[in-house]
Amino acid sequence: MKIIVTGGAGFIGSAVVRHLIMDTEHQVVNLDKLTYAGNLASLDSVANSDRYHFEHSDICDRVELDRIFMQHQPDIVMHLAAESHVDRSIDGPAAFIETNIVGTYTLLEAARNYWKDLSSQRKESFRFHHVSTDEVYGDLHGTDDLFTETTPYAPSSPYSASKASSDHLVRAWHRTYGLPVVVTNCSNNYGPFHFPEKLIPLMILNALSGKNLPVYGKGNQVRDWLYVEDHARALVKVATLGLIGETYNIGGHNEKQNIEVVRTLCTLLEELVPAKPAGVDKYEDLITYVTDRPGHDLRYAIDASKIERELGWVPEESFESGLRKTVQWYLNNKDWWQAVLNGSYQMERLGQGA
Ligand code: NAD
Repeated sequence: MKIIVTGGAGFIGSAVVRHLIMDTEHQVVNLDKLTYAGNLASLDSVANSDRYHFEHSDICDRVELDRIFMQHQPDIVMHLAAESHVDRSIDGPAAFIETNIVGTYTLLEAARNYWKDLSSQRKESFRFHHVSTDEVYGDLHGTDDLFTETTPYAPSSPYSASKASSDHLVRAWHRTYGLPVVVTNCSNNYGPFHFPEKLIPLMILNALSGKNLPVYGKGNQVRDWLYVEDHARALVKVATLGLIGETYNIGGHNEKQNIEVVRTLCTLLEELVPAKPAGVDKYEDLITYVTDRPGHDLRYAIDASKIERELGWVPEESFESGLRKTVQWYLNNKDWWQAVLNGSYQMERLGQGA
């Protein structure tokens, strides 16, 4: 099949593209605007495949989208392109409204326009897979509750509100126009190629250079962590086998307080990099508590039993094995993150004739 992956140069999108090229026979069209979060170096291992094609485009650009649909004739769209960082959404929500809401609307309309003229067989097998987050459900205050596919939406941040909005649009395009959609809502991801503004890579890289490890509030916020390659496998299962109109929650059964995550990273670094930067006695000494994020959700936790039961997906990594792999990846791939930290990764974007 031919699959358009939007946001394929991002953290999760690039894991999906690598998985599709390395482990399946599908053809991939990576449609990405290459914002600060898009990094083509994350696709070096697959970019030379003749089953991979890159389109440098914006999901808000309808004319370009129409051309891409007509030219590539996709069987599936996996929609991951988004503005994804909660702190940035608090500082500047406009880009989130534009990409996550208007962009999803524009992509839905382009997909619908293409899909309505397909032959009846291709029309029936077409899928629009919208990739979303568990943050649309708001937060949990009890210790035992879990988000299920029927938990009411109660987003807290501009980011989660914009994703909630896009989820509603996707479901409305199914109900009103019959567009064959599937939706997934996933918990926090971590793993290789994660942009260093997010908690886990930020802590690894700060610790390696002897900088403070800033933890919001008391660090007692609970997140349910999933290794990114497990998420990529789940997404491809849903895109190819999921039932039309259904939603699947995806999670790793790894609920951890933020402070626990940071301490575990420090312990791993003590073992893997015992030679510390000058003046650092123990990595844990670098932990500093900073003013909490406004509206910070306390606890997220996913009930992933539906996708396990119906599609036979289970995560392969435990939190311990996934975190160890992640730290090791950052230790082995300094070129990748140094290019992000010094900004030179964006030169590659310009070099692509973008
Ligand atoms: P990311 O920020 O790493 O990547 C986003 C990608 O989208 C980048 O390559 C960027 O260039 C591209 N993009 C942004 N605006 C675009 C536009 N207007 N047109 C085309 N491309 C554009 O994000 P991520 O962490 O990989 O998340 C991917 C998706 O998964 C998002 O929809 C996010 O909401 C969802 N999600 C993320 C997590 C997580 O923990 N990171 C968890 C659950 C769901």
